[in-house]
Amino acid sequence: MRTLVLNAGYEPLAVVSFKRALVLVMNHKATVIERVEDDPVRASGGPYDRPAVIILSRYVRVPMSRRVPVTRRGVLRRDNHRCGYCGKAASTIDHVLPRSRGGADSWENLVACCLRCNNVKSDRTPQEMHWELRFTPRQPNGNSWTVRGTERSDPCWEPYLALAA
Ligand SMILES: [Zn+2]
Repeated sequence: MRTLVLNAGYEPLAVVSFKRALVLVMNHKATVIERVEDDPVRASGGPYDRPAVIILSRYVRVPMSRRVPVTRRGVLRRDNHRCGYCGKAASTIDHVLPRSRGGADSWENLVACCLRCNNVKSDRTPQEMHWELRFTPRQPNGNSWTVRGTERSDPCWEPYLALAA
């Protein structure tokens, strides 16, 4: 069971375990604004309502320029599992400027890629292939990124939650 954490300005900030959320609430750092019906948490001093959504009491400032760690899964998700070159279903990622030629493992240099394009392109650049990227690869926006990935709390938000706690 996960709890959505809203910043004091109501923008979604992170998804945390309900235990983590309860600790924030019990320390008066956050208020429950939506609870899970008929499923209280049994704990010492409890039972407590199981929080579905909490809002922080204090506004936490989050710099938007913060780097989101780049992962293979993250690149595929950012690109909706579509090949950056042909738009077909992608299962691999491609270094736009090949690593063998100094290309970085960065959001800006990685795109989702179908097996076929990846094999054909090999260690050449899109220019050499006369290929065009369907979009300019960028680091995903931290906020929407965290909201979309609801299955876990993104470690890059931890320091901000710690600020609130
Ligand atoms: Zn392709």
